[in-house]
Amino acid sequence: MIFSKSLAVLAAAALATTGALAADFPIKDKPVTIVVPFAAGGPTDRVARDLAEAMRKPLGATIVVENAAGAGSTIGTNKVAKANPDGHTLLLAHIAMATMPALYRSLPFKVETDFVYLGMINDVPMTLISKPALPANNFKELSAWINQNKGKINLGNAGLGSASHLCGLMFQDAVKTDMTTVPYKGTAPAMTDLIGGQIDLMCDQTTNTSSQIEGKKIKAFGVTTLKRLTVPALKDIPTLDESGLKGFEVTIWHGLYAPKGTPADVAAKINTALKAALKDPDFIKKQEGLGAIVVTDKRMEPAEHQKFVAAEIAKWGPVIKAAGIYAD
Ligand code: ASP
Repeated sequence: MIFSKSLAVLAAAALATTGALAADFPIKDKPVTIVVPFAAGGPTDRVARDLAEAMRKPLGATIVVENAAGAGSTIGTNKVAKANPDGHTLLLAHIAMATMPALYRSLPFKVETDFVYLGMINDVPMTLISKPALPANNFKELSAWINQNKGKINLGNAGLGSASHLCGLMFQDAVKTDMTTVPYKGTAPAMTDLIGGQIDLMCDQTTNTSSQIEGKKIKAFGVTTLKRLTVPALKDIPTLDESGLKGFEVTIWHGLYAPKGTPADVAAKINTALKAALKDPDFIKKQEGLGAIVVTDKRMEPAEHQKFVAAEIAKWGPVIKAAGIYAD
């Protein structure tokens, strides 16, 4: 009797320190905000908006997407690290979670310990693309153009540690040519400038490039997978590997996170809703139509998500260090 009474006291104390229990989550009439650390209309934003729609019903909440872009995604990521851990502020982040630790001399958050991992969402290949006026129509002609224009080429990206930055570094290394990188708050504004011809080249996720390639607004020279993609908009684009950049492979992934301190049962509720969304045929159709592959493996479980990100940190850290690039 005394024992169970003290358990009840302990439970009440735990409730007071951890905040709401899952029974109260989501709090009625309070939306869940998914923070996207890149510009609206870009590839990560696209994933977030499709996911918000698919999670709304299983979570039983209104879900809004907020863009907190800038500084290679560190601003939005930090915002969520410092947010109230009640499950109502989440972060949708990509491979930058694995590149930031090696890239930034000091980060205001720790990727490994300041977040509750909620599960992974998708894997997204990339495409090497150019402004429409670039006078090359295949990879061979592009290589010749690069050789003729050394020192004059601009390459857009979404800031240090972004997917386009990482792929751009790999590309410059592969073609042994330094290019002037032009950072944006996301590849949505970079795409506008690429279409307008203000920048020459970019490496960007298929979720942002498929429709532009299909509409012939930009030129596409290669995909970053070892096998060609099968979606209609991208199936005729050769792999960079088959074009001569042997072993050129990079795939971007997205995951969902909550701030450290989010109660375990709240996190479990979000994970259950995430897994329901990953099986939603509409979500799968939208994402896969853009070349993304929705996660079906064990990385949809938080522990495996965390393990995967740790392995990616170990994989990309040495690549970034070897490139000798640091940000303060
Ligand atoms: N994910 C970025 C965006 O949404 C692009 C990138 O990382 O290259 O704009």
